[in-house]
Amino acid sequence: MSFPTTPAEARVDLSAIRENLALLTGHAPGAEMMVAVKADAYGHGMVPVARACLEGGAGRLGTAFVREALELRAAGVTAPILAWIIPPGEPLEEAVAGDVELSASGPATLDAIADAAAAAGRTARVHLKADTGLSRGGATIGDWPALLDRALARRAEGTIEIVGLWSHFACADIPGHPSVADQITVFDEALGIAEKAGLGGSHVIRHIANSAALLTLPHARYDMVRSGIAVYGLSPVPSMGDFGLRPAMTLVARAALVKRVPAGSGVSYGHLYVTDRETTLGLVPLGYADGVLRHATNRAEVLAGGRRRRIAGRVCMDQFMIDVGDDPLAEGDEVILFGDGSRGEPTAQEWADSLGTITHEIVTGIGSRVPRVHR
Ligand SMILES: *Cc1c(COP(=O)(O)O)cnc(C)c1O
Repeated sequence: MSFPTTPAEARVDLSAIRENLALLTGHAPGAEMMVAVKADAYGHGMVPVARACLEGGAGRLGTAFVREALELRAAGVTAPILAWIIPPGEPLEEAVAGDVELSASGPATLDAIADAAAAAGRTARVHLKADTGLSRGGATIGDWPALLDRALARRAEGTIEIVGLWSHFACADIPGHPSVADQITVFDEALGIAEKAGLGGSHVIRHIANSAALLTLPHARYDMVRSGIAVYGLSPVPSMGDFGLRPAMTLVARAALVKRVPAGSGVSYGHLYVTDRETTLGLVPLGYADGVLRHATNRAEVLAGGRRRRIAGRVCMDQFMIDVGDDPLAEGDEVILFGDGSRGEPTAQEWADSLGTITHEIVTGIGSRVPRVHR
């Protein structure tokens, strides 16, 4: 189904994604580029975005879960893919058979991967993850030698090969945060221990940098960078500006109803907005079920009839209202929630700022009812 038969759509400009990718690879000379396409490519539509990124020069893709990687394989994507969150019960045999690279943070996961590889009659390609200070995934430096021992044992039987050593930053988006240097020190230590254990070498990819590190920490790029938010054109460090990136997504709806109401009309649930004069209201058919957070009530802005309007009253499950005064607005007219800002509309960054969150949450939150239209 395509516009205008749908009340709203998220338009994704794949040329913006390719341009952002070119800009980002220019910042990381000599490093491989992995694009994080988890969570439906941050809400942008995983398969079309993955294809655009591979055409645009990315060598690798990253997903959170095996299921996401297998969806890419089913769509015919043959590039290397790493899946990095491996809860118990994941379809590991399918993953290994589908040549999906897998991350291991502990011996139990490593054993599950090696067993699945044995069952599949293949060798699993594994990235060992170190916890260098985020205290999320990864083996702590204390547990790291035991993970390496297990990796050596399973490698010796031929079920796994170690193709990556990696970690993830806690505060790369906070310029000057002291934990960044600490994490690099611990990462180098973990790499040194792995090297001594015989799990290093030039074929092993070392990687720790996300978008923020890629753009602001040249010494953190190692052999590969993993970029997500910046590829989608959103700044990983908003306090440092937009880095020349161009937002790829424009969220648009069509006014579903336009009507005049008298002064003193309470608008939407709870009457949190009351008209102060006779005015024109427009109904925008997107709500919190579509990712327009209820917290945007009387807060976030949209572009309608060529001007900015604040959301008037409660955001409901499927709709919200705007007050356009005496300006013309017709049913079917476009209302832009956010885009790249070139038409005067708000950006996802402005939405994030007004809601006290980050752009990752704004774009990944767009619901499945909203079609993604790629151009
Ligand atoms: C999501 C994710 C990334 C990408 O992060 P951005 O800040 O969006 O660039 C990189 N690495 C891991 C492990 C991730 O989970």
